[in-house]
Amino acid sequence: MPTKAAELAEVVVSRRGADRLKGGHVWVYRSDIAAADGIGPGSLVAVKDERGRFLGSAFYSSASQIAIRMLSRDSVTDLDGLLRERLQQAFAYRERVVENSDAYRVVFSEADFLPGLIVDRYNDIFSLQVLTQAMDSESVRQSLVTHLIHLQPASVVERVDAHIRELEQLPSRSSDLLYGEKTNTTFSMNGVKFHFDALQGQKTGAFLDQRENYAAAATYARGEALDVFCYQGGFALHLAGNCSSVTGVDSSRPALEVAEKNAALNGREMDWIEANAFDLLRDYAAAGQPYDIIVLDPPAFAKTKRDVPTALRGYKELNLRALKMLRAGGILVTCSCSYHISATDLLSVVAEAGRDVHRNLRLLENRGQAKDHPTLVSVPETAYLKCMILDVSR
Ligand code: SAH
Repeated sequence: MPTKAAELAEVVVSRRGADRLKGGHVWVYRSDIAAADGIGPGSLVAVKDERGRFLGSAFYSSASQIAIRMLSRDSVTDLDGLLRERLQQAFAYRERVVENSDAYRVVFSEADFLPGLIVDRYNDIFSLQVLTQAMDSESVRQSLVTHLIHLQPASVVERVDAHIRELEQLPSRSSDLLYGEKTNTTFSMNGVKFHFDALQGQKTGAFLDQRENYAAAATYARGEALDVFCYQGGFALHLAGNCSSVTGVDSSRPALEVAEKNAALNGREMDWIEANAFDLLRDYAAAGQPYDIIVLDPPAFAKTKRDVPTALRGYKELNLRALKMLRAGGILVTCSCSYHISATDLLSVVAEAGRDVHRNLRLLENRGQAKDHPTLVSVPETAYLKCMILDVSR
């Protein structure tokens, strides 16, 4: 390991910050920065401990609580070359692990050693999201777009998260094309087709992290299905092939409009209900409406640690109502995308709900995010999605 970083500005981290890095994490919080004099927003910096020992190269943010995101244990002199190499490696990894899909996450930030960058592929369109000052700098943007173009997309679109730009104190910006002209396409995963509008929708357009869970859920599907928090119909469309009827529920009308178009694209007839899921489940459970398979994929209820108790009550209520509605031998697919809710938390909530409604639950599959969203084991924040498949008997 080099002991000297070539001409990079230096940030000194406290003992606690240094220990965190030695433990394998790649973030140092602002409270663990001992000195960062005159460092510009988004700079590439050399990180040192208080005794002057070089710990690696990192991106610095002058605004975020996460002041440092490590890029390398070595001294980075050719940032453009490093970005090119890491993008190529990330793409090559997906070519190995993604099957039967032309839509997947190409770059998952820290988990691909490109902290602050998300790139998703939807068939021939790449959708990029910048999460930090460093990734937003003009030179980095230029590098990223140049190297992504080498992968031969029809276009590259940037999706802007206004909240994140505010947190990073970046000037506001709107989602737009960075290369090419195409903003609409269709993509397919597991043999199911989807419409994609690069400048609309939540996240970068779809919930790609559920790709393998869609296929898993489909293998258990039969009879009447209910997909709660269905968005544009990801689970619903996968279940449709094996079910006699499928109903999707979401509170977002624009999402349901795309879901309806997706159903038509696949030659399916399905019901889409615009409703608050909590209200609908309460009414359906009270009315004794039966289903053979129910999917619960709510938004993240716990955005911070503080939200956990309230979030757990929300998960409990949803799961309890769903369990009430399932026929004997039915299947519950229950998800949580809150990092702060662990698999153990979710399972105990589901177990409690099962006890309350006198059902026996067997955990058939305890799943996480798809392989194109890898988990960097030293950065627990890179694992967030839980998807459990249970069978339910009385
Ligand atoms: N299952 C989807 C992703 C769900 S994301 C897929 O695989 O693509 C969460 C969804 O919950 C969003 O579409 C959002 O519009 C919806 N939502 C949020 N709060 C809701 C509520 N109270 N009732 C119904 N839907 C809600």
